[in-house]
Amino acid sequence: MEPFKNKVWLSSPTMHGDEQKWVNDAFEKNWVSTVGENINVIEKEIANFIGVEEAVALSSGTAALHMAVKLAGEKLYGRPKVGDGTLKGKKVFCSDMTFAATVNPVVYEGGEPVFIDIELDTWNMDPEALKKAFEIFPDVKLVVLAHLYGTPAKIDEIREICDEHNALLIEDAAESLGATYKGKQTGAFGDVSIISFNGNKIITGSSGGMLLAKSKDDAAKVRKWSTQSRETAPWYQHEELGYNYRMSNIIAGVVRGQLPYLKDHIRQKKDIFEYYKQELKGLPIELNPFNEEHSLPNYWLSCLKIKPEYISSMITNDYEAFYKKEMGKSCPSEILDAIANINAEGRPIWKPMHLQPIYQANEFITTGSGWANGDDVFKCGLCLPSDNKMSKEEQDVIISAIKKCFE
Ligand SMILES: *Cc1c(COP(=O)(O)O)cnc(C)c1O
Repeated sequence: MEPFKNKVWLSSPTMHGDEQKWVNDAFEKNWVSTVGENINVIEKEIANFIGVEEAVALSSGTAALHMAVKLAGEKLYGRPKVGDGTLKGKKVFCSDMTFAATVNPVVYEGGEPVFIDIELDTWNMDPEALKKAFEIFPDVKLVVLAHLYGTPAKIDEIREICDEHNALLIEDAAESLGATYKGKQTGAFGDVSIISFNGNKIITGSSGGMLLAKSKDDAAKVRKWSTQSRETAPWYQHEELGYNYRMSNIIAGVVRGQLPYLKDHIRQKKDIFEYYKQELKGLPIELNPFNEEHSLPNYWLSCLKIKPEYISSMITNDYEAFYKKEMGKSCPSEILDAIANINAEGRPIWKPMHLQPIYQANEFITTGSGWANGDDVFKCGLCLPSDNKMSKEEQDVIISAIKKCFE
């Protein structure tokens, strides 16, 4: 197969022109720093769209998660001594199969992530494993949940379990902006939630993120912390630890220009997902699953998982994978190599946190016996090229390359 002249990306920024207009507007008015109309407008628009009281524009999704974790920590345990995190010595239940940025902020605040396995209906946090975790650690008061690849988690069940245990819920909707569960936007279920405008997300600011708050007080706190925690005084007066996490009005201009296109991006991603699903039907695989009755994903990434009995012999260590070509079978590394060979970009599934050397000592809760669901999806799954700008012809070539792996 001829490689593509222009690389087909996993998920790259898709600009429309309006972004430039709002960036120029910031320049012309000289509001190029962390105050300005673009920021005010996108905070209002996102809060309305998601259905939360307020949105706070920050420098990244990770910064937003840090502020969310700190806010939840203070609500639960009060303001800590200077130098201590708000979650010092406290266990926090976290999604296990996700990007490390979901859980690292818990550690910034001194907390100890306890990882919760996924279920196989949506590849998100398993409510049954979460129940089990509360049985083992009944004192835990905080849960951090990510919606993987744009597919809503079993959020009703998880919310209910949190309420039963008087625990707060942080929703990491970085990958799922625009996805709904029973008609409600992801990001509206958490006590505090976040979204991201990183370059590869469904819409982008080139970078940036937002915290979604349920009250004006919460939003005001985060605005203060993220601008160095200055008190209202004629001089620099500080009662709390501060951060420099505010979004720039230039970045906000890019986001402002992208917002009207969120629906289009979701439709394009949905078409890509459905075309893969239709064309790969004969293979022993499934695409990332969701509950068709009440969930509308944003289809950020199309992923496939090979049925375990069709995985060819492979050996992996922490740094490399080796596999053997076997008739009728394949493995993620073989498919990723085939995709790379035609100049397209695929990715492995997020490697579960409980398998990461940095978090090896942390607790991991699964309802499985021996083999976790997350291990299974990681071993048998991969993310397919899912760029909005990919043509049907390009997708056809990718599909042929995947099919060839199973011959
Ligand atoms: C991208 C991402 C983040 C981090 O967002 P940044 O804006 O890149 O800091 C957090 N959580 C998840 C699940 C993500 O995919």
